[in-house]
Amino acid sequence: MRCAIVGSGLAALASYATLRRAGVRPDEIVVFGTHRDPTAVWAERAASIRQDRMRSESDGHVAAASFPGLALREGSPRALAQTVANRYRPPVTLFLRHAEHVRARSGWDESFVERRVEHVRAVTDGFELDGEGSFRNVLLALGHPGLARIPGAVHAYEPHDYAAKVAVVGAGMAAATEWRNALAAGAEVVSIRRREPLRRPLNVPRAFFSKRGLSRFHGLAEPDRAALLEDLGRPSYPPGREWDLDVPVAEEPPPGFQVIAATGFRRGFAHDPLLRALVEEHRLRTQARWIVLASDSTVPELTDERRTLAIAGVAGQWAFPAADTIAGAKYAAHAFARRTCRTR
Ligand SMILES: Cc1cc2nc3c(=O)[nH]c(=O)nc-3n(C[C@H](O)[C@H](O)[C@H](O)COP(=O)(O)OP(=O)(O)OC[C@H]3O[C@@H](n4cnc5c(N)ncnc54)[C@H](O)[C@@H]3O)c2cc1C
Repeated sequence: MRCAIVGSGLAALASYATLRRAGVRPDEIVVFGTHRDPTAVWAERAASIRQDRMRSESDGHVAAASFPGLALREGSPRALAQTVANRYRPPVTLFLRHAEHVRARSGWDESFVERRVEHVRAVTDGFELDGEGSFRNVLLALGHPGLARIPGAVHAYEPHDYAAKVAVVGAGMAAATEWRNALAAGAEVVSIRRREPLRRPLNVPRAFFSKRGLSRFHGLAEPDRAALLEDLGRPSYPPGREWDLDVPVAEEPPPGFQVIAATGFRRGFAHDPLLRALVEEHRLRTQARWIVLASDSTVPELTDERRTLAIAGVAGQWAFPAADTIAGAKYAAHAFARRTCRTR
């Protein structure tokens, strides 16, 4: 039995750890990825916007078991008190140190093969990944299909400094963070945005992390489900005084201003060459920019008793609205591990 994970980010590492905990050995798993260090891509983005605390809570870590969480690992009474009130945000340094530990302990490096997979082709008992033989169970954890760029602007998720005058394009969490960063660096800051920002505590409300909320979501008609996902994807940042910044709004970046694109990522499966080809060649069902998945994150047309194709990360939102979080990665990973172990 061999299974494969395509992709090498946080979702891939969380899935790998979940498979290992379910008893699958390193020599039974191949991870095809572009980065041997599964935190590399995320860590650069977080460092670029000077993120020093996680957005997620104590259990937002990549180990398979949620206990012990990061608050317990931090060990301070303050962290433990905050976690009781859902107010604990782990330091990024702690999250990364712990991820490094999970990578070392799980055997990730034994399974890792440096390779960008271009083609997933269904065969009778599994899937061929480029010319790399056949795998019965495959999890795609490809991350976002690239940054949404603006010509001439530096992207907020790429390393940058702040000039004396800064125009931040966008109205979500990254934009709000960049207003704060640039103001703290002493810059004059303007915000370039089309509409007033939404203030939401979390991109995806807590209800969608619960069994009940999820089953309501899974019961929606397809167009309603796509409309809901579209709404949840609107740029937002949390309410609260720490985010209430007095930043003037302009329609265009004024001349002489450094332009920072806090515009997030390109959206939708069609921007990812592997997913686009998969949909076209296997005639997968789609709705707007989403691939239609079963509620356990598998691709229904290509999953049966003999084989599994599942999608984790942002491209798996059809099954789990907060797919692009660590909790979302684990949702897909648990179902994948269950199926993998069943077909062993
Ligand atoms: C700045 C920032 C802060 C965030 N903070 C939090 C937080 O605090 N808590 C939380 O829960 N979530 C957070 N998120 C959301 C989420 O956890 C991240 O987006 C996370 O990186 C998603 O992991 P991923 O593995 O899906 O994608 P990525 O980390 O982007 O990894 C995907 C990897 O797969 C590789 N790959 C892609 N295509 C192929 C291919 N065809 N073949 C081989 N390899 C391929 C890519 O090169 C990349 O290495 C944050 C996101 C950002 C951007």
